[in-house]
Amino acid sequence: MNSQEIKKLDAEYVLDSYARFDLCLVRGKGCRAYDAEDNVFLDFTSGIGVNSLGWADEKWAQAVAQQASCLQHTSNIYYTKPSAELAQILCQKSGMKKAFFANSGAEANEGAIKTARKYSRDKYHDKKDTRNVIITLENSFHGRTMATLSATGQDYFHHNFHPFLQGFVHVPAGDIEAMDNAMNDTVCAVMLEVIQGEGGVVPLPKEYILAVQKLCNERDILLIVDEVQTGVGRTGTFLASQQVGIVPDVVTLAKGIGGGLPMGAVLFGEKTQNVLGRGDHATTYGGNPVACAGALAVMERLNDSFLAEVKEKGVYLKEKLMNMPGVAQVNGEGLMLGILFKEGIVAADVLRKAMEKGMLCLLAKDKLRLLPPLVITKDEIDEGITILNKVLEDMA
Ligand SMILES: *Cc1c(COP(=O)(O)O)cnc(C)c1O
Repeated sequence: MNSQEIKKLDAEYVLDSYARFDLCLVRGKGCRAYDAEDNVFLDFTSGIGVNSLGWADEKWAQAVAQQASCLQHTSNIYYTKPSAELAQILCQKSGMKKAFFANSGAEANEGAIKTARKYSRDKYHDKKDTRNVIITLENSFHGRTMATLSATGQDYFHHNFHPFLQGFVHVPAGDIEAMDNAMNDTVCAVMLEVIQGEGGVVPLPKEYILAVQKLCNERDILLIVDEVQTGVGRTGTFLASQQVGIVPDVVTLAKGIGGGLPMGAVLFGEKTQNVLGRGDHATTYGGNPVACAGALAVMERLNDSFLAEVKEKGVYLKEKLMNMPGVAQVNGEGLMLGILFKEGIVAADVLRKAMEKGMLCLLAKDKLRLLPPLVITKDEIDEGITILNKVLEDMA
């Protein structure tokens, strides 16, 4: 099928809930993807931060294929080796104590939300169910399920689907006084992203996050860090929160964890490791052996030198971006960067023109967002910069 035929079929049968770009991809290798007409594209999206090792990484594909041809699924009524091993590695890399496997970011956050509510219910039983509020930040994004939409601190998402869940309060990001005031005795947890991804690649100040952690500790309020986008090496450390120097009570992961297969994880710290017990939470696919095999292949690659390279490539890319014409600001860490353009340059136009020149980028609010595969080379970064420079020169 050519691109036109595929698009026509999609238009006829797939729910029209996505504003897609006019591109139909059929295969990829590393940082390059090909459409049905064999046009090649340089990738700065990694499927929205998912393809950590790029497209069709050899070792990853082998691990996945081998697992698929051996044992593809068991459900959680039996033990399997890939999920046990993956849980061990995740705990070792994050310093957390236990892992629960889900299938997406929203689902991982659902697990975190349930954990927070049960933690307070178990511990503050005399107060019955009154200690159940979760504070999240304005401009946050936590997912598309009813609970995670309710948690998401953007009005844009709070239409059409009433009633939303009770028990969520949104406070302005970076305002420690507002946080302090909101932390009354109905609050069981704070949930935040270290860098607000969908909100426009907005990093929270380090001092703010440290102050939030301190307040949480003083009041026995759990700190949930949503690392669905920032985690798994994206910012140059395994978790972005490790750079801030906080120890969250719950961490959620997804996107990059499976290297391209649907997977999410909730990681539990000292305080929360025994909150959810048998029967409290479950999902049929969770810890699926094929997804775990893919994740194990990702974890194998993410050693200290690999992470140091991500960091270094991020610094290199950021500097090049800041020197491009028309750029006002570049935010983010490692290979999670958002570019704010000067007045008159619309990020969506830059994206479209870059695509015409064979480069794929993302948007986040009014910024151009880059989430290249973590394996991108300096030469490929240079190639991307050359394209963006050309686009911006043409627009000036
Ligand atoms: C993408 C994202 C989610 C939602 O993940 P899904 O896998 O789409 O459900 C949640 N939180 C953050 C920070 C994200 O970037």
